[in-house]
Amino acid sequence: MSFDKLGLSEKVLAAVEASGYNEPTPIQAQAIPHVMQHRDVLGIAQTGTGKTASFTLPMLSILEKGRARARMPRSLILEPTRELAAQVEENFIKYGQNNKLSVALLIGGVSFDDQLKKLDRGVDVLIATPGRLLDHFERGKLLMTGVDILVIDEADRMLDMGFIPDIERICKLLPFTRQTLFFSATMPPEIEGLAAKFLHNPVEITVAKSATTSDTITQRAVSCGNKDFEKRQALRDLLNGISDLQNAIIFCNRKRDVATLWRSLEQHGFSCGALHGDMDQRSRTTMLNNFRDGNIDLLVASDVAARGLDIPNVSHVFNFDVSVTAEDYVHRIGRTGRAGREGATFMLVTPADKKGYDAIESLIGQTIEWHDNPVGFSSRTGKNAKARQDQAGSSKVGAKSKRSKSDREETKNRKQSIAPASKNTDKDSDPGIISGKTSGNKQKSRTKRPNMVAFADEDHVPAFLLREPR
Ligand code: AMP
Repeated sequence: MSFDKLGLSEKVLAAVEASGYNEPTPIQAQAIPHVMQHRDVLGIAQTGTGKTASFTLPMLSILEKGRARARMPRSLILEPTRELAAQVEENFIKYGQNNKLSVALLIGGVSFDDQLKKLDRGVDVLIATPGRLLDHFERGKLLMTGVDILVIDEADRMLDMGFIPDIERICKLLPFTRQTLFFSATMPPEIEGLAAKFLHNPVEITVAKSATTSDTITQRAVSCGNKDFEKRQALRDLLNGISDLQNAIIFCNRKRDVATLWRSLEQHGFSCGALHGDMDQRSRTTMLNNFRDGNIDLLVASDVAARGLDIPNVSHVFNFDVSVTAEDYVHRIGRTGRAGREGATFMLVTPADKKGYDAIESLIGQTIEWHDNPVGFSSRTGKNAKARQDQAGSSKVGAKSKRSKSDREETKNRKQSIAPASKNTDKDSDPGIISGKTSGNKQKSRTKRPNMVAFADEDHVPAFLLREPR
């Protein structure tokens, strides 16, 4: 199969040739002809399959005819993260080099004014994250009635990030007659529901079984102790011992651990950077570019970097933590072995990680070989073991209290379908503090902190605490 059989325009074909692609990937070969015929498409495609070009190439070809009007974008692409949005913009610039189409990016963390100026000039392709798009709409700066093509990309990631209500709102603002292209790596029931609601008689294309991992990725599990310092040591041993390591992304479950691990690796002389959702957009972009350009070898990241990011030559992925959900594991390791290249991945597994580890093996439908000796999974649920299990999404209560607020926000909906957040672990729920703010004697008397301190052995209770409050 060659690109010129897909119905793409001459200008786009010339750009594809210039980019050096010889033949379309399966998702491209199957989706592009249907998109060119204005059909709705439901694409279930693994990351790294060439999915982005499967919608950018036909969109460029279709949009060649027609002109943009001020504040009325002709097409809209929704992306879950700013990085993905920026990456799709790069694709439009690359493949649209022979077209004179205007592309605008509406993402959070950058100035509204520059975005407004672009909108005013007229936009053929608007690439947006849902929140910022709705902000512009609510300010009356955007008319959605001219959108002929809507792309919802990484729909399962949108679900994880809590964007489904926003997507539903946006879909209702667009013309009913639009063409909709919908892509997701996995199809949980919520995503199936969304697709059923907003796609009209779609062509369904599945290029890989959902939640499968690429054959080109070698996966290994590495036994290590529960303690953070033991995990850091195990990671350093791996990094020092792997001869073909060129660069790597190292995933942690918590942003706090991203920062700690980054500093630790730097102190041990590794060339590394960090990427997580609390960083401002400029730092995130700089860090990604530094990694992409080879200025740093290691990128310690939270799951914000896990999905869809296209960094072509990542030789290794390390899971410093067993991921919160098994789906995250699939997406994390999909950062290596992209577009048919070889990749390798190592996951540190502690005695407390049994549930998370089993969930991953069951999702990917294969056994992950041990790097050396298998870990001895603990049957006890001690304090540390429980904390680790919480991180791995295996326990429903307690995880919230172990994670910072921003960590919880970053993953709040990712866990929805797996483990509902605990209702009872908010660190602000200390009754001594809360009841102190309320009126009423009964409430006030409960604000006395000494009543809340529990001592196992009365002999060790400080004397002042033994005085009954009056
Ligand atoms: P994506 O799944 O869209 O993130 O694409 C993954 C990678 O595959 C990107 O680096 C693309 O540049 C590359 N790619 C896309 N289409 C092709 C193709 N037809 N042949 C070779 N590489 C491609």
